[in-house]
Formats: sequence, C-alpha cells, structure tokens
Amino acid sequence: MEVEQLVLGGERVPAVGEKTSALIEPATGKIFVEVAEAGAEDVERAVRVAYQTFEESSWSRLSATGRGRILLKAATLLRERLERMAIIEARNAGKPIRDARDEVALAAAVFEYWGGAANKIMGETIPVQDNGLEMTLREPVGVCALITPWNFPLVIASWKIAPALACGNTVIVKPAQLTPLSVLLLADILMEAGLPSGVISVLPGPGAAVGNALVRHALVSKVSFTGSTEVGAQIMRLCADNITRVSLELGGKAANIVFADADLQRCVNASVFAVFGNCGQDCCARSRLLVQRSVYESFVELFKARTVALRVGQPLNEQTEIGPLISAGQRQRSLDYLALAQQEGAEVVVGGGMPSDSDGYFLQPTILTQVDNRMRVAQEEIFGPVVGIIPFESEEEAIRLANDVAYGLSGSVWTQNLGRAIRVAKGVRAGVLSVNSNHSVHTEAPFGGYKKSGFGREMGMHAVQLYTEVKSIFFSQE
Ligand code: NAP
Ligand code: MG
Repeated sequence: MEVEQLVLGGERVPAVGEKTSALIEPATGKIFVEVAEAGAEDVERAVRVAYQTFEESSWSRLSATGRGRILLKAATLLRERLERMAIIEARNAGKPIRDARDEVALAAAVFEYWGGAANKIMGETIPVQDNGLEMTLREPVGVCALITPWNFPLVIASWKIAPALACGNTVIVKPAQLTPLSVLLLADILMEAGLPSGVISVLPGPGAAVGNALVRHALVSKVSFTGSTEVGAQIMRLCADNITRVSLELGGKAANIVFADADLQRCVNASVFAVFGNCGQDCCARSRLLVQRSVYESFVELFKARTVALRVGQPLNEQTEIGPLISAGQRQRSLDYLALAQQEGAEVVVGGGMPSDSDGYFLQPTILTQVDNRMRVAQEEIFGPVVGIIPFESEEEAIRLANDVAYGLSGSVWTQNLGRAIRVAKGVRAGVLSVNSNHSVHTEAPFGGYKKSGFGREMGMHAVQLYTEVKSIFFSQE
C-alpha cells in the first residue's frame, strides 16, 4: 500500500525511522491508506526549518500583495481539484459527499478571503503628545503550530493556515491522527501555488507526542488549537513555560431557542441539520433544543418526523445526509451518554440504534425528551448525533437555561418578535449567535468562544490579532 508522506518544509518525506500508521475508513471500518507518522525528531526538523525560513524572511518580506497572490492561486487550485479533495475528505472523515464538496469550496473561499486580505493588514498613526510621528506595524509572530481536530479537517486547518500565512508567518500543522489526508494535499497545493520552501510543514502523528513536542518547543512562537477543552487546558499550561502565544477553540453545548411565535416548520428543517449534521461532531452543534412550553408537544412531533426522514448512509452516496461517526470510540462515547441519559431519567423517543447491515461506525440520529438542563447529557459535549429537547416558559428562563452550561461557543434564537430576538441574542453568553437561522459561521466574520469554549477569534479580520505582534515606533521630528 502506498504511503502518504509527511510534508516537511514543503517537501514530501518519510518520517525519521519510516514509521507509518493505517487510516481506517469510518464508513466501512477497513484500512484504506497508510500515512507516515511523525515523531519527536520530525518535530525538531520541522521547527528548525520553519524557524530558519522565518529568520531569513523570504516569506514575510515578500510583498503582502505577493503573499496574497499565492493564497489566491491556492484557492483556484482547490476549486479545480474540488471533486478529488471532496472524495478523499468524505472517505477519511465519513462525511456525506455533498457536505465534503461544500467544505472544500469553503476552504477555497477562506484562501480567497486571505489572498485579498494580505495587503489590507494595516497599522495606525497615533496623535501622541510628543513632537513627531507615532505609528504601529503589524508584524508576523514567527513559527506557528496549528493543531487541528478530525471533525472538519480541511476547513479548520484552512481557518488557521490562511491567516497565518497572509500575516507572514511560517506554519507547522499537526492534523488529527485520524484525518491528515486533506491537509497534506492542501500543503501540496500551496507549494504548487508558489509558497516558498520551508514555509509549511504538516506532521501527522499522535497529539501526545507530536502535538506536545510542538507546543513545548522554544522556537514556536504561537499555538492555535481546536479540539477538546481538556486538551486545550493542557496546551495552555504548556504554553506558559515559554510565554508562547495561544488561542483555543474548544467544545460547545449550544442552545437552539425556539419561541412559540417562530416559523416552526422552517425552524425544524434547519434544526435537524444544526445538530445531526456531520453526525453531531460539530463544536457548534445545537445539541440543546430549548422549546417554549406552549408549542413543545407540536414541535417535538414535527422534529421527530423530520429526523426519521433523514437519510443515513454511505458517504459517497449522493443521497446521503448523515454519515457514520469518525471512530468506534466516538460511537461508544455517544452510546455511553445514551445509557447515562436513561439512568438520569431522560427518554429516547427516536433513534439510539445502530444499523445491523454495516461495519461502519453508524448511529441513528437520536432525540431525548424528559431532559433536565442539569443532567450530564445536557451539560457535557457528546459530539455525536444526540439532541435533548427541553421545555421553557419565559424569555428569562430561556436565557438562564442557555447560559447554564460551562461552554459558550454558539447558539440560535427563533422568534418573529424583533425586540425579543435582540434581547435574547444579547443575553446569551456565546461567541457566535444566529437569529431565525442556525448559520453562524462565516468566513468574513469573527468566530470563537466565551467561557470554556476558549478564547481568541478566528476568521474575518479579527484573526489578524492571532497571527501578528503590534510594534509601536516613534519618529522624532526634532
Ligand atoms: P482532542 O484530543 O482535543 O484532539 C484535538 C487535536 O489535539 C488532535 O490533533 C490531537 O491529536 C491533538 N492533541 C491531543 N492531545 C494533545 C496534547 N497533549 N498536546 C498537543 N496536542 C494534542 O480531541 P479528540 O480526542 O479528537 O476528541 C475528543 C472530544 O473533543 C470530542 O468528543 C469533542 O467533545 C471534542 N472536540 C471538539 C472539537 C471542536 O471543534 N471544538 C473538535 C474535536 C473534538 P490526536 O489526533 O492524536 O488526538
Ligand atoms: Mg484526544
């Protein structure tokens, strides 16, 4: 079987010691490709190359317009190879092919945004009291370690790589062990688009070894992490030793708040995908559906009907809407939460089962009722196709329940009453919210969490703050 090699300073190379690991296709449970597995020595090599390249300034001193042009070219190449990339992402992550195509297109849009943004990253002139001119520069931070999860492998990597490169940094990506393929191909595309050698490395391998070694390396200046709150906390502690800059995008337990005056059918049609899309493996999954008591029963009936009609199946089937979970372990995690939910007094009213005709990691979209917001299934991130539907009486109670979790990433409110929409949107403590929509992630707008969902804002021009230092320079006129 052919081995997908590491990307080290823009070159495809085997890992030191030529170690490899097998990737399993979640839809079949079978091995489909071997990938080079990086270790501590590969991290050392990659950091040295990234640091040296940064010091030589071949990338950061290229004009901002020149950097932007390479990112724009990468966007074009991604679009040209959309179908091939989508098939790889669909097979590796178990995503429905239609979603995978959208994600490759989204990654291209992210590179296009940052291709255009590169020469619009500006400093200020500031009217200070002393005689002269005071100005600020936005300078790259240095070597950036970008650690990404398996749920949206290409998209989340793009959210980090594109702004980091636009700002003039060099980058080392540590993709999730389960899903390194699309990011390796993205690095090939960036090299083909003209990225100078040394600017990008991609090191698939275990987080506890490769990720940990990267985060602790004294020559790494910035860590951007997306993943679990638990690992995020460890990374934050490790960053303390070298005062390494860090931004964290962690878990969520989003509330989807539905008032009695909402357009219920439109809300239901969107909300099934807002929680079951990507098989629930989404930090923004609207996994707590808060529904006003007067429409609770009718809403649950509509939601059940729409859920049982979802087409669960093989990722490469054009009709499929929901694929498998990423791994046997991730499915077991959901099953454990379903058992716990029932012990806590919740009731499974739809789903909960596994199809008997497949070896893939499938789990039917599952609805829980009789859920109290204090139950563990309402408090903890399940990261599987499970929703709890919880009734509320008043606007105040809805806000209180929405905020009564440790997380604060995203949320939605459905109502025809504009004043209420504004009050609830202001009242919910989360980084991204949507009204009469579950769509709150936009390439051009800031994205990130409150509370245990992390800190720092990716996307839009806010991301410039993550990948630059501010230098203040005073010029005397005397
Ligand atoms: P995770 O362990 O936090 O993994 C995220 C990334 O961090 C992966 O690349 C992982 O490598 C790496 N990593 C793990 N331990 C590390 C360490 N000590 N130092 C540096 N890097 C390290 O997440 P997971 O285990 O895949 O998923 C567990 C739970 O996290 C999920 O069930 C879900 O609740 C949450 N999660 C959230 C998001 C999100 O988008 N916010 C995404 C994924 C998961 P490996 O590939 O070796 O694990
Ligand atoms: Mg983990």
